[in-house]
Amino acid sequence: MNDFSDDLRAQLELEAELGGWQVYRATVSTSWLDRVDIPAGHYYASHWLLSEPPIVAADLETLRTAVLARQVEMAIAEHHGAPVELDGHLPRRPTWNCMGCGSPWPCELARGQLAQTMMLGRLVGAMAALQVDASSEACLSPAEACDRFTGWI
Ligand SMILES: [Zn+2]
Repeated sequence: MNDFSDDLRAQLELEAELGGWQVYRATVSTSWLDRVDIPAGHYYASHWLLSEPPIVAADLETLRTAVLARQVEMAIAEHHGAPVELDGHLPRRPTWNCMGCGSPWPCELARGQLAQTMMLGRLVGAMAALQVDASSEACLSPAEACDRFTGWI
């Protein structure tokens, strides 16, 4: 087993885990439509349904964290009908602590933005869906999960 096949296997495992995302490694420095630079050796991920810039990272673990956070943004956008600007206050999975401020997510800033932007029914729907993922990933008790995801609304 050489480095290349180990690396490729790790990419494919990440693709399988993420579902819907393709994971690549840039062999030479390149750019995406002249908008996003992808340095040689960096990894990038794009979702097959989204015509938006790829997520770029120096290593697969960082890429994984960024894509998992992006999936949360996408779930919220799906309920809201458009993206909600959370300014980097997204959960780092599997802990579901905020990448922006370190608080349990949704943190104060995220709650404020979500409540201000979304219609109540859609907000409840989005939070209830995310609560299911967070409960299993972060091993939250049912009471803790309810308080954190829907109890504040
Ligand atoms: Zn935060």
